[in-house]
Amino acid sequence: MTSSSAVEQSSQSNVHGGKVHEVPELAMEFDSEQHAFDYYSEYAHRIGFSMGKQHVKKSCGVVMRKTLCCSKQGEKGIDKRRENVYYHRPVSRVGCKAHMTFLLQKNTKFKVITFNSEHNHAFAPLPAKHMLRSKRRLSFAQTSLATDAIKLRQQILAAAGQFVGHERK
Ligand SMILES: [Zn+2]
Repeated sequence: MTSSSAVEQSSQSNVHGGKVHEVPELAMEFDSEQHAFDYYSEYAHRIGFSMGKQHVKKSCGVVMRKTLCCSKQGEKGIDKRRENVYYHRPVSRVGCKAHMTFLLQKNTKFKVITFNSEHNHAFAPLPAKHMLRSKRRLSFAQTSLATDAIKLRQQILAAAGQFVGHERK
């Protein structure tokens, strides 16, 4: 143990190189393990997946390294005990590899050492997503996009109808 004192600087949790990162990046630093957790949790909600298992490596009760995984991590069907079961649950674990691992640094910060953003499954909408401010932006974008698509379709149909109408006269 060193005598260096950890200064709490909670305002810098998501900031690296002077800007707030929307997506985790390698070498990003967090003031605490909790900050890293909160950040990945918020990111997961924003993207649309839920967090699953956490793999923690501790030393003397101190978290040295932590991996946050997607809830769809782990292979479905490997469990032999379930092979002869007649009922089928919906597949919820598909061996997704997406995760973020952060490691305790000498300066008491946690640094992202691995980050995998590739999910091998579709994202399910989460009930809690509307709670996040970023979600409102997304909903609005999706809604306006959908509305545009409907308008466009109506325009095409209207144009086609006029065309067909002229042909038959
Ligand atoms: Zn995933």
